Amino acid sequence: MKIDVNDIIKKLKEGDLSSLSKAITIIESKATKHKTLGSEILRLSKVENSKKSIRVGISGMPGAGKSTFINSLGMYLISKGYKVAVLAVDPSSTVSKGSILGDKTRMEELSKEEKAFIRPTSSGGYLGGTAGKTRDVISLCEAAGYDIILVETVGIGQSETEVKTMVDIFLLLILPAGGDDLQGIKKGAVELADLVIINKADGDKEKIARRTKVDYQQAIRILGGNNKFDEKVILCSALNNIGTDIIWENINKYYINNEDEIQSNRFIQDKYWIDKRLNESIIERIFSKPEIKSTIEDYKTKILKNELSMEKALNEIFNLI
Ligand code: GDP
Repeated sequence: MKIDVNDIIKKLKEGDLSSLSKAITIIESKATKHKTLGSEILRLSKVENSKKSIRVGISGMPGAGKSTFINSLGMYLISKGYKVAVLAVDPSSTVSKGSILGDKTRMEELSKEEKAFIRPTSSGGYLGGTAGKTRDVISLCEAAGYDIILVETVGIGQSETEVKTMVDIFLLLILPAGGDDLQGIKKGAVELADLVIINKADGDKEKIARRTKVDYQQAIRILGGNNKFDEKVILCSALNNIGTDIIWENINKYYINNEDEIQSNRFIQDKYWIDKRLNESIIERIFSKPEIKSTIEDYKTKILKNELSMEKALNEIFNLI
């Protein structure tokens, strides 16, 4: 089937869902013929519009309440007139073929909304790491007129760190926990998060949630972390829609007051991803040549056997390339 790029872009910019899905399928495709096409779609779909979008990362361990929170926040944002896209970076999908994230049934109300677009991003072995393609999907959603992009990721491993490099604001959802559990405050997670959200602050957990809030505030004070928000830990009950509005007010305030900072941060992120893609593509192309691959293997053996120094081997390999 012939793919008409200009037609896809035109319709996508008008907010046509099937064109958006088609464009995403092309950029996610690993087929060689789609790579150039996908790249061109991305270039042509870049819009000034994206300046107005807000990109928010949402992380937390399974069970922390991410989908409930996104459902609640998404419904709130739609009630304010925004169009919301939810992209889920699911590191589990390659291993188990199962899905911890991005399942529409997990966001039942939101998935029925016309102004919401929910899409899991398979992490399957793309260049650019687990979340490589998610960044491109963000661009496409912005081109299609989505104002708020929520990127969901599980709080385990590399995808969390990568998502941080493609959003403006990063939220970490945690559960109320006191006493010994506090040893579980991870320095990395606290440094990564712009806002820590203690979810399930309701019922018999409310008291312990307040305690957890104070503990996290102290931990953040000691460990440092970002300075985007005055209040860095917020209580929330996603299930009862309590706290989501306050969280949004904080994000919106930051966004309105720091437009320059956000744009310069995006520029840094763009550079990071261009570097990453270029480096990885160059390496992939070099290694895709069997003769080079096998020669490099020979050199590796020689280095291991101490028959050749690393530097000499490198020089010879570069001469060969
Ligand atoms: P995820 O794995 O992080 O996406 O977590 P889910 O959103 O699927 O939530 C896990 C469970 O916690 C579900 O049974 C939710 O109903 C429940 N849950 C989520 N948010 C809250 C909350 O604010 N309060 C209470 N009590 N339960 C919640």
